[in-house]
Amino acid sequence: MKIAVLPGDGIGPEIVAQAIKVLEALRGDGLKIEMEHAPIGGAGYDAAGDPLPEATLALAKASDAVLLGAVGDWKYDTLPRDKRPERGLLRIRKELNLFANLRPALLYPELAAASTLKPEVVSGLDIMIVRELTGDVYFGQPRGISTLPNGEREGINTMRYNESEIRRIGRVAFEIAMKRNKKVCSIDKANVLETTELWRQVMIEVAKDYPQVELSHMYVDNAAMQLVRAPKQFDVMVTGNIFGDILSDEASMLTGSIGMLPSASLDQHNKGMYEPSHGSAPDIAGKDIANPLATILSAAMMLRYTFNDEANAARVENAVKKTLAQGVRTADIVTEGCRKVGCAAMGDAVVANLG
Ligand code: NAD
Repeated sequence: MKIAVLPGDGIGPEIVAQAIKVLEALRGDGLKIEMEHAPIGGAGYDAAGDPLPEATLALAKASDAVLLGAVGDWKYDTLPRDKRPERGLLRIRKELNLFANLRPALLYPELAAASTLKPEVVSGLDIMIVRELTGDVYFGQPRGISTLPNGEREGINTMRYNESEIRRIGRVAFEIAMKRNKKVCSIDKANVLETTELWRQVMIEVAKDYPQVELSHMYVDNAAMQLVRAPKQFDVMVTGNIFGDILSDEASMLTGSIGMLPSASLDQHNKGMYEPSHGSAPDIAGKDIANPLATILSAAMMLRYTFNDEANAARVENAVKKTLAQGVRTADIVTEGCRKVGCAAMGDAVVANLG
């Protein structure tokens, strides 16, 4: 199995280095993997004048999976839009046809106190957010900023989904629900947006193939509220690109820190890109204080979803659990009585706990 390693910008290189330590340890125990590095985002722009250099895209296409850190830094904010780091990320998702983004929000019991919500509201939380990743208002045409005849500027983006795009993400959500608690909540805004009215109709059609799964619908504004009011009511949530972007960040805080949330983005054949749900955190880059657990847990998702290696995936997840149970914490999740460590030491602790 070949892994394209794309560390990116900001804290990307530090956190990816910890996931690599874990993968190297598994390789030492017989896991057959090969890893090759390439630049993306601001690092891609610096290396080749392009946030997604051709060589990086070629490597990603030739690999079985991609392990990504994060992209973006304020210093690139003045570049033309198509040269900005985030464009590299949107393009690689589109080029690899990674339409299904899986974001688990799982609360480790040891971190209940790190959540801003009361422990009784969040303890036992285990939600899987399934976000469509290649359509919606982020990609719809027409888009842009233009000047009207009266001299006023106008910004346009287009929310757009076709039936087959909705159906394939719906299937992913129902398949995952079959392996969990058999509940899917589809999030839309069908009362005002026709695109999501179609979304709801197609979800109802998909549900007919999964009679064991209970389908419910919720408007996105209510879902945002329910996620902080009573988050344990959810099992699998399925939604479009923009709603999923926002709701998954909200869900991440239920778990204590955005530094804990992994993600997988899959194509139709389970080839995937694995990355933490957070960004490049330029405010803490290079200080050895970032939490690498979301990236390490993303590597565990890679083992599970692309390599079909449940044993090693569980081994990594258990090592993370054990590390947290030992009271080892990075700054973002530290609470009284715990031992605060840096990014690299957290990686070492997980490796030591692989067992
Ligand atoms: P961010 O997620 O980078 O940071 C938000 C806050 O969370 C910051 O205070 C940061 O220090 C903290 N944080 C994030 N990850 C952490 C970790 N692992 N450990 C500890 N603390 C962590 O979001 P932002 O500040 O809005 O954006 C910064 C840059 O990241 C921007 O250029 C943005 O475009 C980019 N971004 C990239 C991605 C991606 O690569 N997938 C996603 C979101 C934002």
